[in-house]
Amino acid sequence: MRKYVIMGVQGSGKGTQGTMLARDFDLVQIAVGDIFRWHVQNHSKLGAQVRRVMASGELVGDDLVEAVVRQRLNEHDWNYGFIVDGFPRNANQAEFFLESYDIDGVIHLDLPDDEVRRRVLARRSCSRCGMDYNLIAQSPKVEGRCDACGAELISREDDTEEALASRLRDYHEKTNPVLDIFRRKEFVFTVDARGEKADVQQEIRKQLGLPESQ
Ligand code: AMP
Repeated sequence: MRKYVIMGVQGSGKGTQGTMLARDFDLVQIAVGDIFRWHVQNHSKLGAQVRRVMASGELVGDDLVEAVVRQRLNEHDWNYGFIVDGFPRNANQAEFFLESYDIDGVIHLDLPDDEVRRRVLARRSCSRCGMDYNLIAQSPKVEGRCDACGAELISREDDTEEALASRLRDYHEKTNPVLDIFRRKEFVFTVDARGEKADVQQEIRKQLGLPESQ
């Protein structure tokens, strides 16, 4: 059983790197932001509660977040382990998590703010099939259109200069203390996230003592 948390500022590649690990090691990927986005898109009651906060780039209240994480982990559909992305984001959430679950390692993707800004403002995804693009490294063949299905590419509602500034501020104020809490337990692995996707993935595996490719 492998239980990991992946942390890092927006745009540091948590989703991408988490997906690569989950795929090769049969882990269940639990991305709290994706769960919230699903609720917003599907107009659930929870979606209505979090929509405005999310659009402004602020953090959703701890009670709601913890309930979502608890419910998701209680499903116990993970036979080989899980990788949690986007949680915990502050000291309260970290304490809650450590009280309830054991974890084997915290992967910390480190990326300077100017690189975050460059990457996040170039992020796009397909409005129909959800495929991800990045106008720097992975631009579509036809501008503004999805290569796979031809639908329009859109930005996330919170990928704006203003929301990004708020998210970066929050990250530095609230999320760094989480790393300090985890560091006291000595299981934080910091990886430089500036490199190529595949190189960052190899470095993560090396630090976690996992085989390089499955
Ligand atoms: P993300 O996709 O991880 O960037 O999350 C998108 C948005 O969901 C965040 O800007 C928050 O509004 C909300 N969110 C996701 N995870 C958390 C969390 N652990 N605590 C509070 N809010 C969260």
